[in-house]
Amino acid sequence: MTYTYDADNIFAKILRGEIPNNTVLETDHALAFHDIQPSAPVHVLVIPKGPYICYDHFALAATDAEIIGFNRAVGEVCQKLGIQPGEGGNGYRLIANSGPDGVQEVEHMHLHILGGRPMGRMVQKAN
Ligand code: 5GP
Repeated sequence: MTYTYDADNIFAKILRGEIPNNTVLETDHALAFHDIQPSAPVHVLVIPKGPYICYDHFALAATDAEIIGFNRAVGEVCQKLGIQPGEGGNGYRLIANSGPDGVQEVEHMHLHILGGRPMGRMVQKAN
């Protein structure tokens, strides 16, 4: 694989404790924290602790333990936030922006968990 991870990205600095964050959950394999510029009443980012750039990089290169640990953390965060549709919550949207067309700003794999209001249509139609 030819992915080149830049350890100076903002989320790597958050993982190293060089930049503060408002943590929702920390596990062996993941860190979840509130987005600094929320796009919805609930806007939490979940990142793996390993050096993965984007979703496909993570999905292809991470260990089974990292992938399972990350996904369990996403579930735990939804539980903590009270947004699980099956448990009385109103639901949420997961977004993983990846690369230029995905308009990914920070090159450390992350999932956005957005909720607290109806999220509207999935994406705008192409012109
Ligand atoms: P992307 O466009 O890469 O999917 O999203 C990156 C997200 O990271 C944005 O929603 C942005 O607000 C958030 N973000 C950027 N810098 C920081 C930071 O220093 N702290 C936190 N908590 N979020 C950040």
